[in-house]
Amino acid sequence: MEPTENLKDRSTYYAINKIIDLLSKVSVDRFIDLTCWGEKLTRDPEVKGPIKRVRGFLTQEDHPARELFYRVFNTLSEHKRRRIFQSLFLNAWFIGGRKRDCNEKKLGFRPPFILILSPTLKCNLRCKGCYTLGFEMKHELPLELADRILRECEELGIYFITILGGEPMAYPHLFDLIERHPDMYFQVYTNGTLLTREKSQRLADYGNVAVVLSLEGGEEETDTWRGKGVYEKIMQAFEYLNNAGIIIGTSATVTRQNVDTVSSDEFIDKMIALGSVSQMYFLYIPVNGRADFSLMVTPQQRDHLRRRVLTIRNTKPIFVLDFWNDGPHVNGCIAGGRRYFHINAKGDVEPCVYTHIASDNIRDKSLAQALNSQLFRDIRSRQPHNTNHLRPCMIIDNPHVMRDVIKRNCLYFTHPGAEEIYTFRSKYMHHYAKAYALLADRVWKEEYLKLKEVSQGSS
Ligand code: SF4
Repeated sequence: MEPTENLKDRSTYYAINKIIDLLSKVSVDRFIDLTCWGEKLTRDPEVKGPIKRVRGFLTQEDHPARELFYRVFNTLSEHKRRRIFQSLFLNAWFIGGRKRDCNEKKLGFRPPFILILSPTLKCNLRCKGCYTLGFEMKHELPLELADRILRECEELGIYFITILGGEPMAYPHLFDLIERHPDMYFQVYTNGTLLTREKSQRLADYGNVAVVLSLEGGEEETDTWRGKGVYEKIMQAFEYLNNAGIIIGTSATVTRQNVDTVSSDEFIDKMIALGSVSQMYFLYIPVNGRADFSLMVTPQQRDHLRRRVLTIRNTKPIFVLDFWNDGPHVNGCIAGGRRYFHINAKGDVEPCVYTHIASDNIRDKSLAQALNSQLFRDIRSRQPHNTNHLRPCMIIDNPHVMRDVIKRNCLYFTHPGAEEIYTFRSKYMHHYAKAYALLADRVWKEEYLKLKEVSQGSS
């Protein structure tokens, strides 16, 4: 990795490498000092915000983030610590941030922080509510095309790549792709069943990869969702990954049936014991053309998950992300390249993983052109879709926005059946949004706006 020509970038590069040099001896307190140093090296709010939040947690003597810090550090050898810090902090945050600044001036829009890439739709499982169930599970991006996408990402300043599927382990070029991009940070979501000892070791040795295993609760819930015997294979995958010394996360699709289980202390404690350092929650969203609305969490359950996540964050040494309920942390919807976007296995450039619409295919356009499409610009110009950030989504919370986006832009649905929830089944989404709004507006007013008033009053 070479520093860029810009003097400021060069000093950032050397300063962060100095920080990386200190990592072998680092303690929480030393790390807190380093976050102050890191913060001075950037003006980017996307970088400053998380640094401040991390420091805020770490400075609280009894906050579990301190234990989480050591859990992550002790998982990684010195070489891997260096690789993670180079790819994630130096490149994705700082060097990438500078490139995004420059490109914002040059291109007239700010490139996002994350690309979610689904290079294959092939999968060995047929999970019950998977959003790809209605898709033809045969599409795959050729290696050269996937490689071109990532090269263009680097030029734009996007270094954080999440790999989804299909099943990434079924993508024959996964390892080649990662090897070609040692400066990027990869987060690979997998069902875990195709992981072997060798593959786990290879991923760990790259040093710039984290693996996220998906499970929907204990053995019963996971096997009901994913198929008999899958839970046992996931347990085996944990063992391979732990032995290889790689960062492990876990993710759950949250439904009406498993919301209590996956947000329980027992489940979180089990994930921590298995080695997970991050738990991601994704609500079941009926977008696959075989929508089962009865699987969607009720408004009360969605709020229950929000409250549980707040408690878990303050009591357990694990990083938790709750994709919809975390709307207040990112000022609402992040689709359309505001913070992220998705490219599917056919090359369609979608606003987000759940919005199965596109106006461009990456085969015909450069990444910069696709990110600056009329569709993406229109979505960004409408954000936030609601002043209540607990209702961020244009699919489930503000379906009128999504219908208008569809009406006003020249676009296509990226798989058969994707249009259903906006056409003849739109009334279900409308009812859901209305019911959730009643609850979410009250919570927003009582908990979030009041808090804001109090903090403004005391400042
Ligand atoms: S449209 Fe909904 S699911 Fe997609 S990024 Fe926005 S809030 Fe998230």
